[in-house]
Amino acid sequence: LVPRLEPFRTTIFAEMTELAVCHDAINLGQGFPDEDGPAELLTAACDAITGGFNQYPPGAGVLALREAISADREGRYGTIYDPDGEVLVTVGATEALTASLLALVERGDEVVLIEPYYDSYAAAVALAGARHRSARLVPNGRGFTLDLDSLREAVTPDTKVLVVNSPHNPTGTVLPAPDLAAIAEIAIDNDLIVVCDEVYEHLLFDGRVHTPLASLPGMRERTLAVSSAGKTFSVTGWKIGWVCGPRNLVGAVRAAKQFLTFVGGGPFQPAVATALRTQLPWVAQHRTTLQGKRDVLARSLSTAGLVPHTSDGTYFICADPRPLGYTDAATFCRTLPGSIGVAAVPVSAFTDAADSASWKHLVRFAFCKQHQVLEEAAKRLARLA
Ligand code: PMP
Ligand code: GLN
Repeated sequence: LVPRLEPFRTTIFAEMTELAVCHDAINLGQGFPDEDGPAELLTAACDAITGGFNQYPPGAGVLALREAISADREGRYGTIYDPDGEVLVTVGATEALTASLLALVERGDEVVLIEPYYDSYAAAVALAGARHRSARLVPNGRGFTLDLDSLREAVTPDTKVLVVNSPHNPTGTVLPAPDLAAIAEIAIDNDLIVVCDEVYEHLLFDGRVHTPLASLPGMRERTLAVSSAGKTFSVTGWKIGWVCGPRNLVGAVRAAKQFLTFVGGGPFQPAVATALRTQLPWVAQHRTTLQGKRDVLARSLSTAGLVPHTSDGTYFICADPRPLGYTDAATFCRTLPGSIGVAAVPVSAFTDAADSASWKHLVRFAFCKQHQVLEEAAKRLARLA
């Protein structure tokens, strides 16, 4: 393995899921739901297979899906993208993110990430041969806040791209409007392209509503908005993602994408198009259910003696196990599947340094699991107390 990829050998999700399987533990580590999405979506995929959608789809994605993505974003956010050239279907959000970075940065360029960050960002920057610098979230007593000064400091004359993720994995932070405005100002002042990871755009709680960065003044022309059907419709294994943006940027991403996978997910694409047009009521119901699950897991973590932070969106909640005497989340997470039969993920897997004082102790738990699974997890977690 080349040295620049050496830090990225085995992802934390692979490691913790393997431990969970090995100990028959409840997997609150890797974020995937244990129930499939709406029946109509599943049937539409079966129909597409039997209906002959089994060869290579078009390079930009099936037109019906690009049109549905465009109509969906216009309807919910008022942002307008031409399905012909401003919408690109990818193999999950992961490919959209990686292809964006491969297309936009190279050796000598810098990318700013916000720490903690989803693990594929730093790996994709390394694949592109570029470097990243990190701004950071900081604890604010209930959840986390973006440290805007750290963001300003992270930008240098070499910075080309800023990656923003809201709702945020792993903390569940939803960036508030003033922070989005400040990010926009920094991006415009420094002529940055923003890659905005919005895979949890539908999974916000307590009445919060997602605001895409591209909808702010001056941002559409410099923003690539990335999303995915995996989280929205509970089909994480389908790997249908997309990126929307101005024609020049999406064209660049497409140039890189065609040599990563060319195309992907033929029969799933028309199915996701159907879901975007007809299944948003299912998504609304799902969001409400998920919010209840967040509350259940937060209570279970408290009862077990951990201190949960607030999660305003996503599948995840972070908790501090130090009151139980555990100061190193990575060690805690490696022993948990064997000791009580629960798997979780250390937040340090999403940071530059495994021993950073701000994150070393924090553990991420996923609550996108069936109620009886969360109840059983609560019983097992109670053994920690
Ligand atoms: N970004 C974030 C923040 C994620 O949590 C994930 C994991 N689903 C992805 C991107 C990757 O999404 P996909 O599975 O569609 O590639
Ligand atoms: N996005 C999911 C998570 O954060 C898992 C993705 C993966 O396994 N790479 O848990």
